[in-house]
Amino acid sequence: MSVALDVKGLEASVETKQILDGLDLEIPFGEVHAIMGPNGSGKSTFCHVLTGMEGYQVSGRARLEGQDLLSLEVDERARLGLLQSFQYPTEVPGVHLREFLIEAADERGMEEADALDRIETEAKRFDMTRFLDRSLNNDLSGGEKKRSEIFQMAVLRPKVALLDEIDSGLDIDAVKQVAEAVEEMRSPHLAVVLITHYNRILKYLSPDRIHVMIDGKIVDSGGTELAEELEAGGYEGVRSRLGLKKPEAEVKPKPSDFFTETPFDL
Ligand code: ADP
Ligand code: MG
Repeated sequence: MSVALDVKGLEASVETKQILDGLDLEIPFGEVHAIMGPNGSGKSTFCHVLTGMEGYQVSGRARLEGQDLLSLEVDERARLGLLQSFQYPTEVPGVHLREFLIEAADERGMEEADALDRIETEAKRFDMTRFLDRSLNNDLSGGEKKRSEIFQMAVLRPKVALLDEIDSGLDIDAVKQVAEAVEEMRSPHLAVVLITHYNRILKYLSPDRIHVMIDGKIVDSGGTELAEELEAGGYEGVRSRLGLKKPEAEVKPKPSDFFTETPFDL
């Protein structure tokens, strides 16, 4: 299976703060990979750096189907087939979902007739037909917004889809629906990066591989046993198994640290 996304030694910093610290990741076409990591480990920064958001000093390698991404502009990366979903989809009153998608498809060089065809087909598949002539994301529930995003991706057919916390803020039924939509999205021409803080979405879909991200790099990769380990022992468990130190700033003082003499264990 050929490689869709190939990242090696990726580093990113803002001013003096190093956020990504030598991140390696390879995702073949046709696969869904989950990246799990605690808050602040750099998951969103990874997406921003791949899509080309400004403000980061970046070095290392990131290739989509063999083509260097880091030297390209944001829109060029999108045209190559990189697409990110939004953590908090915004409502756009007055712009209907169908128009929005025709425009987005045009920006990616798709013929309008082709786009209209795909919109009809995918809307049926993702049960979105009734939303096509309503304002973008207006009055949609959290779960419907996320399903709408996945539907939009299915129309635009990226080669690499970045789903950053697509399960956040959803109740469990909505998480299940989103998970089913991600499975429905699977295609031999697509690689999915599913980024999540919690492992509950992994109960409803089967990623081909799970990666654990801590302090700006992938520290471990494996199968569902990794999600089970995280469920049982949290990120702390993985840290201690791998002998990773907790960063200074995160070390909470114990009550006894405040007293020179503690008469009893607090
Ligand atoms: P995650 O998505 O895993 O929660 P982020 O990528 O959002 O993590 O952030 C990683 C770390 O980098 C955090 O400590 C965050 O405060 C910091 N960070 C992210 N973006 C910036 C920025 N533009 N300027 C300064 N610090 C940032
Ligand atoms: Mg994030």
